[in-house]
Order: sequence, then structure tokens, then C-alpha cells
Amino acid sequence: MSAMSQRCYYEILEVERTADHETIKKSYRRMAMECHPDRNPDDPAAEERFKEASEAYQVLSDPEKRQLYDTYGHEGLKSTGYQGFNGMGDIFSAFGDIFEGLFGFGGPGRTPGGPQPGRDLRYDMELSLEQMASGHTASIQVHRETACGECGGSGQAGGEEPQVCSVCGGQGQVARAQGLFRVVTTCPQCRGEGRMVTDPCPECRGRGRVREEKELTVQVPAGIEHGQRLRMRSEGEGGYAGGPHGDLYVVMHQQQHPVFERQGNDLYRRLEVSMFQAALGQEVAVASLIDGELPLEVPAGADTGEMLRIKGFGMPKLRSGRRGDMYVQLVVRTPSKLSEGQRELLEQAMALGDQDAAPLLGENGEEAAGEPQPKKSKKKKKRGLFSRD
Ligand SMILES: [Zn+2]
Ligand SMILES: [Zn+2]
Repeated sequence: MSAMSQRCYYEILEVERTADHETIKKSYRRMAMECHPDRNPDDPAAEERFKEASEAYQVLSDPEKRQLYDTYGHEGLKSTGYQGFNGMGDIFSAFGDIFEGLFGFGGPGRTPGGPQPGRDLRYDMELSLEQMASGHTASIQVHRETACGECGGSGQAGGEEPQVCSVCGGQGQVARAQGLFRVVTTCPQCRGEGRMVTDPCPECRGRGRVREEKELTVQVPAGIEHGQRLRMRSEGEGGYAGGPHGDLYVVMHQQQHPVFERQGNDLYRRLEVSMFQAALGQEVAVASLIDGELPLEVPAGADTGEMLRIKGFGMPKLRSGRRGDMYVQLVVRTPSKLSEGQRELLEQAMALGDQDAAPLLGENGEEAAGEPQPKKSKKKKKRGLFSRD
């Protein structure tokens, strides 16, 4: 899907060739934030930049890949089979930790006591190719943490406000002098919370948070692709101190299909036809993914490997109502047993002329003197030995 970008990776990330890992990571993070698809919906240019930057970061953040790239450039990477990312899903599963901050991760601590959004959650969903083609409604169980209903998230029994921490005065941090410097550290008493639970809520034991299981209905639109995500707003973890819920991202995974392979919106399958059907040409039936059996015209003289197209019976394009195509690759089978009658007729047909026939032994000198034949008769063996002298 993503062609390997040919722009210089250092230029893409706007860093020096000598940049250290931290600098590269920072630069990538800044760029990913700017052109993140969630912030630039329906902007293919931003998505392209996002993919390009992700690929550059994937290479430059890996010492082995980076060295290969520094020495041999894009070609060097290609020679090891490297081909960048397959899609957005790939990028998110590789660099999820980098995007955490973008999605409102963080939890409590930064501004002690203040409202903070809950964490985003990820749910991996497996779908069959048929479900991806037809669309699918599934109910899923999500385990998540949310504010305790008993104490309203305060952690204090009866929902009282917790006490302001006596050590840091609610700042969550303490400062002390060390020589000439003033060193700020996380408050040891409240561990940065800024507050102290003096009478813990029995339901959450003072944590202010409980785990819950929720059943959600996910509507997967027809045409969804492997690696794509559906965002379910406010279905992530509960917020802190009255902050909003995080979001839930449902990531799609396509199961292997025994018959069909998908490439973008097109479907590919093989179909075995007999030698007779291929030679004479015939209309045959071929099973489609979701449309039952379809007629397929095998042209006379068809060969193994030939690709026939059935227009409009591929995967639906997401939210467009249009569909890709279905491709059928022919595999011509030779009968392993012939009846007496078939053999006679085929021999007659051959006698009428066989333009594709391979030369027979002795018909031309080079062939006869060549490799030993799989089925060796005594005569042939002798001839082989003879010709070597
Ligand atoms: Zn509680
Ligand atoms: Zn404190």
C-alpha cells in the first residue's frame, strides 16, 4: 500500500544527519502531532506526510536500519526486504507509545487535582473477509477503569473531598535546596496527587477508580480494511476529577480467507478448469465472496495463470457504494486418467497437428545429448553414455 518514499529521511524529519535519537524522536513527535489523521480528517496530503514521517522515523530510530540507510540509502534498505508500513494500523501499533500524549494520555499528576481526561483504549477486532465486505455489527466486552460511583472518584468515603496534602500543600511537588540549585521532586507523601485520602471509600479502597465491564455495539461499515480503526467517542476510560472519558479505538484485523485474497478493493481467487474446458472454451460457474455463483467465460485456448476479470464484484469501497473488481486466475488441470475413448480421441487430435509439442528425443541433436530423462529406459541410458565419449 505505502510505496517506499524516496525523499531523504533526514530531510523529511528536518534533522541533521548527526542528530541523536532524542532529537529525531522529538522531531517526529512534533510532525506526527501536526499531520495526525485525527486532527486532519479527510486530508490526504496530511495523511501522506504522516506516513512519510513515520517511515523515516521507523528507519532512523533503529540503529541497524539507520546505518544501512546512511551507507547505502533507500536501495540498501530495499535489499533487506524492508518495505515501510502497510497502512495506518501498522503505524499505530508500532509507535503507539509515541502517540499516547496526542490522545490525551497522562492520567493524574500534572495538574494535581484538576480534571483530566481518561485514557484512550484499544480493542482489536477480528473479522472475516465476508464481514468486511458486507459490513458487520458486533457486540464487544470492554474492560475499563472509571471513576468510582460510590465516592464520585474522590476516594474519600461518602464522596467527601480528600484532604489537601500537608507536605506539598496540594502542589504534588516539593522543592529543596541542593547547593546552589533548587531541586523539585514529586511529593513523597501524596506521590504527586496533591491530595490525601484520610478515610478511604470502601468501594474503591481510596483509589477513586473502579474497573468495569461494558458491552458495546460496534457497527463496522462495509469495505473496512485491515489495520483501520473505528473511533468510539467517550468509550475509553473514565476521566479524573470530573474530566471527560477517553475514546475507544477498535482496530480491525482481517482473518485469512481460504479462497480469496484482497488487494485494496479488488479480490483475487484461483479457479481450476480442465484441459478440455481450457482448450475448447466454456462458460463456467465461479463462487464469489458474497454474491453467490457468477458466470465466467473461459476463452478457448486459455492457459494456466491467465487472469479474468469480473467487474464490480470486488470489495465495496468504504462509504461510497461502489465496488472493486474480482479477478479469477485460471489453473488448467490435465486429467490424471483418461478413458479408452478419450485417449483415442486425443491421439487422433494430436495426429492432426500439435504445434505446442515439445521435441521428442532424437528429433534434434542437442536435446538428445542433454540431461538424463526422468524415465530412463535401458536404450536411452546407453545412448547417454555413448554420446559423452
Ligand atoms: Zn470510591
Ligand atoms: Zn503531597
